This record gives sequence, C-alpha cells and structure tokens, in this order.
Amino acid sequence: MRNLLFVISGPSGVGKGTISKLIVERNENTFLSVSYTTRLPRKGEIDGKDYFFVNREKFDSVVKENGFLEYSEHFGNCYGTPKKEVLDKLGNSDVILEIDVNGGLSVKKNHKDAVLIMILPPSIEVLRQRLEGRNSETEEQRKTRLSRIDYELSKKDEYDYLVVNDDLETAVKTVEDIINKEKNK
Ligand code: 5GP
Repeated sequence: MRNLLFVISGPSGVGKGTISKLIVERNENTFLSVSYTTRLPRKGEIDGKDYFFVNREKFDSVVKENGFLEYSEHFGNCYGTPKKEVLDKLGNSDVILEIDVNGGLSVKKNHKDAVLIMILPPSIEVLRQRLEGRNSETEEQRKTRLSRIDYELSKKDEYDYLVVNDDLETAVKTVEDIINKEKNK
C-alpha cells in the first residue's frame, strides 16, 4: 500500500479538527502535520502540538528558505505547512494536512496524488449556530469567519470527496474508508 497525502478542509466550525485528530489517534502510521501560524494561541492550545506559534519574522524567513509545502494568509494571520517534516513522514506513514481550501488546492498542484477531502456541515444554519457557540473569539472575528464559509464552500467541486459531518462517528468512518480505498488503489 502506498503512503499518501490527505488534505482535510472545510469551513470553520465544521469539526474538521476533531475528525483529523480522531483519525490519527485510531490509525497507526497516520501522521497529522503541525502547521506554523502567526496567530496567537487560543486558550488550551499547545505550542508544537496544535501549531508552531511563530512571529511574522520567523514565518517570513521560512517562506524565504522555501520551507513550506504551501502557505496562505487569512484573517490577517499566516498559516503554513512545513515541507521537510511532511515529506520525511511520507516515507513511512500517511500524512494528514488540516488546512484551508487555498492550501489544499495549492498542494494538489504539486502533488497530483494528494487526496482532497472537504468536510461539510449538515446545514449552513447548524454551522452558524456552532460558530456562534464558540466563545474563544470576538464578535468581529466570528463575523469574518462566517463570511468565509461561502468562499470555502465555493471550492467544493475541486475537492475529490465531500463528507457531511452530521454524526461525528459516521464522518470519521467515512474518511477512514476513503483513506483505505485510496491506499489500496
Ligand atoms: P484556526 O485559526 O481556526 O486554527 O485556522 C484557520 C484556518 O486555517 C482553518 O481553515 C485551518 O484549516 C487553516 N489552516 C491551518 N493550518 C494551515 C496551513 O498550514 N495552511 C493553510 N493553508 N491553512 C491552514
């Protein structure tokens, strides 16, 4: 079976982080890439585990060294996937990137066999409610995230698989089935 790069994207609040974490917890030889970001840590986030939290200067220096597989800027913050770590890990495991649609499409350009999976909400209204229930952000930040939903969804036709996160266990199982199917191709 070949090792593959799986991109998991979807609008904010859709549960893609939870799904990605459960998949790596339950499947040996699956590695979840830790991105670099210039945004500040939220409560409970751990440096090196959730993200590598860096300043803009450090981020720009990695860009200059061509050290990112892809990177993008949104909500005024930069996010990037470390290239060397991902390529090294691909030598002996599958790698999951939980990144936005711009990142996903950019990865696909250079890695044609990367598999793009988009997690969708059962309804936009449900997603809106989930986002409004998050109290880790200011009102303005929440509004910006809500306006980003349409943009993320507008790219869904360019993704290989769409998975609706209505029931978490079902969504995780569906993504696992996709991974196994693609690995056995
Ligand atoms: P958050 O700030 O809520 O953790 O993440 C905001 C968005 O950035 C999410 O859509 C997340 O998937 C995306 N993201 C996280 N890491 C990366 C990355 O390395 N590259 C790109 N392009 N997007 C990322």
